[in-house]
Amino acid sequence: MKTPSYIRKKESAMKLIARRKEEQQETTTVRVGDVIIGGPQLVVIAGPCAIESYDQLLSTALEVQRLGATMLRGGAYKPRTSPYSFRGKGVGGLEMLAQIKALTGLPVVTEVMDARDIERVGLVADMFQIGSRNMQNYTLLTEIGKTKHPVFLKRGLASTLEEWIYAAEYIMAEGNDQVVLCERGIRTFETYTRNTVDITAIPALKELTHLPVFLDPSHGTGKWSLVNPVGLAGVAAGADGLMIEVHPQPELALSDGDQSLNFKHFAEFMDRLRPVAKAVGREVL
Ligand code: PEP
Ligand code: MN
Repeated sequence: MKTPSYIRKKESAMKLIARRKEEQQETTTVRVGDVIIGGPQLVVIAGPCAIESYDQLLSTALEVQRLGATMLRGGAYKPRTSPYSFRGKGVGGLEMLAQIKALTGLPVVTEVMDARDIERVGLVADMFQIGSRNMQNYTLLTEIGKTKHPVFLKRGLASTLEEWIYAAEYIMAEGNDQVVLCERGIRTFETYTRNTVDITAIPALKELTHLPVFLDPSHGTGKWSLVNPVGLAGVAAGADGLMIEVHPQPELALSDGDQSLNFKHFAEFMDRLRPVAKAVGREVL
């Protein structure tokens, strides 16, 4: 079998990689609108977990943009553990996202949960998010691979690096090589945090692949007070960017309020991020 083109030559336990004979390459850059992921700029993607209302999304977008985020996130289709939880505003959320993207000029990333929604979501999204729960939805990966949109592929909640890389391969095998990997924590025996952030995954993926690597410390920790320090650790470990959940009033959020930063906390986060990014040779807007 042919070794995937994006896997680096570096030593690895994976047989597939061990067979790699090509020269090591630089990180691939993925362009989303004017934003270049994988280059010298450390990219901060911020926004609410779910799009709840026009005002909620607009106020968050303006504030995170003012503070240095260069992309907006917000879910219209939300994969929720309980079917009785808020599952997103669907098409209505996409419409709000389109309006606020036009107003702010921020490129947007939003989750697509179902292959049947790809076209509709693709009219608004500058980058498709594949969520953790869908990392091994091979139909979805294959269909996303047929599009030209960049893809933000989150790590499955109990997936190994090898499984994750193969998931990326499903997309790339269809001809779409604009894939960004996002560590978002994995299931372990620890229950204090929502997940356990695998910081090691960041440099490990940099060795194994030439794809940009992100960290999402919001889902990784599940606690807003831990987002800041863990996010900084990810940057120090070589992440190309961070995805952060921000909400105007986290205590009223319809999803993931416990892990969402309010505007004040996001401002503090950006202040602390700059010197850390600089120390590892990255710029933040
Ligand atoms: C999200 O980004 O809102 C999300 C649902 O993340 P994950 O798929 O990592 O749980
Ligand atoms: Mn969330």
